[in-house]
Amino acid sequence: MEVIVHKYGGTSVGTPEKIKKVAERIARVKREGYEIVVVVSAMGHTTDELIDLMHKVTDSPDPREYDMLVSTGEQVSAALLAMALQSLGCPAISLTGGQAGVVTEDIYKKARIKEVKLDRLKKELKEDKVVVITGFQGIDSEGNIITIGRGGSDTSAVAIAAALKAQVCDIYTDVDGVYTADPRIVPEARKLKTISYEEMLELASLGAQVLHPRSVECASIYKMVIHLRSSQKEDEGTYIGEAPRLTTFARGKEAGKMEKKEAVRGIALDENIAKIGILKVPDKPGVAAELFGALAKEKINVDMIVQSIHSSGTQADMAFTVDGADLKKALEVTEKAAKKLGAGGVVSDPKVCKVSLVGVGMVSQPGTAAKMFETLAENKINIQMISTSEIKVSCVVAAEAGKRAVQLLHKAFGLDKISQ
Ligand code: ADP
Ligand code: ASP
Ligand code: MG
Repeated sequence: MEVIVHKYGGTSVGTPEKIKKVAERIARVKREGYEIVVVVSAMGHTTDELIDLMHKVTDSPDPREYDMLVSTGEQVSAALLAMALQSLGCPAISLTGGQAGVVTEDIYKKARIKEVKLDRLKKELKEDKVVVITGFQGIDSEGNIITIGRGGSDTSAVAIAAALKAQVCDIYTDVDGVYTADPRIVPEARKLKTISYEEMLELASLGAQVLHPRSVECASIYKMVIHLRSSQKEDEGTYIGEAPRLTTFARGKEAGKMEKKEAVRGIALDENIAKIGILKVPDKPGVAAELFGALAKEKINVDMIVQSIHSSGTQADMAFTVDGADLKKALEVTEKAAKKLGAGGVVSDPKVCKVSLVGVGMVSQPGTAAKMFETLAENKINIQMISTSEIKVSCVVAAEAGKRAVQLLHKAFGLDKISQ
C-alpha cells in the first residue's frame, strides 16, 4: 500500500474545529486506500506562549528543560488529532517524535535529525492505524527529548517521508502555495506552481518563513518532492523539487517549462537581523580571523560581511550582520575582540532588515542587481550592505523601509504579472 505523509502547521490545527476538519480530510484520504502518517505542529501560538511562560520563571533557561517544555505543544495537537480521528471511526495513534523513532544529534534546541527508525511506525501502519507524530522533536542517544529549531516540524515531516520512501510530502499550511513574495506584504504576489529546491532553499534561508530551510535541504538530499498547499482548500499548491521530476507532478502549462525566463522568481524579507560595525581596525593579516573566529567559537552565525578601507590607509572599518536573537552575545564578543585588536570602537544597529531577490535565471541574465539598486535609489531607500551569489542579490536596508522595498521590487521586476 502506498504511504502518504501529511504535515499540518500551527494555524491549521489552531482550534478544535480546525483539528476536526483536518481529521475529516485524513479519514477521507485513508478511505481511498492509503497508509497515512501525519506530522503536526503545536496549536496556534502555543510554542510562543510556552516560551513566554518560561521567561516568567527564569532569565537563563536550562536548554534541556527548554526542550522538555516546548516539545509539549505538539503532544497536545497530536493527541487531539488522534482522538478526533478515532471519533470518526478511523483507527489512529499519536506518538512523540522519540516514540516514532526520530533520533537526533545530542544538542538541545537546534539538533539535526540523524535517523528515523521505522519499526514502531511500520507496526502501527500494519495495524491499519493513522499514525500522528509530534513534529519539531526527537530523542538523543541518551533518550532526552530534543527539539530541532523553531519552525522545525516541516523538517520532521520531510525526514519521516524520506525514511518511509513516500512519493511526496504534503505540507498543509495557511497559504495555498509558495508565492513570489509573502502575500501578507505584497497582496498582488503570484502563486508559483513549481519551484526548484535551489530557489526554495534560498528563499527560505533568506527569511521567507513559509518553509523551514532545513526541510528543503533534507528534501533535496532525498529527492523528496514537497507539495505545499492549503489546509482549507483542496486545490493544488506548489510543488518543490528537482526540475525534471517536478514536471511529472505539475499539470497544465507549467509542465515541461522548467527553464524559466524570469531572472527573479521570488523576493524574501528577513526582519530578524542586526548589524554590527567595528571601526578603525588595523589593516593587516589575521584581523578578520581573530574577530570571526571568536564569534564562531560562541556559535554565532555571521551573515553578510563588508570591509572598507579607512581614509588613514592603515586602518579598515568592518560591518557584519547576525541573527537578531544573537545581537547581545555578538556585541560582547566583538567588544572583547575590538579591545584586543586596538580598534577604534564598536557600533550596532538592530533596526535593519535584509531584502533579497532569488532566481536561478540570474546566472544567465545580467543586470538584476543594477535594477535592484536603481529601484531602491529612485525611492530614496539607502542600501547599507550588499551581498550576491549566482542566484540571489541581498541588500540590508533600514527596518522601516523593508516592506516598502519588497513591494517596490516586486512591481519593478514584474512579478505581479508572471504567467502561471
Ligand atoms: P505553518 O504554521 O503552517 O508552518 P508558517 O506561518 O510557518 O505556517 O508559514 C506560512 C506563512 O509564511 C504564510 O502565512 C505567509 O505569510 C508566510 N510567507 C512568507 N513568505 C511567503 C511566500 N513566499 N509564499 C507564501 N507564504 C509566505
Ligand atoms: N511549534 C514549533 C514552532 O512554533 C515548530 C513548528 O511549528 O514547526 O516553532
Ligand atoms: Mg512553519
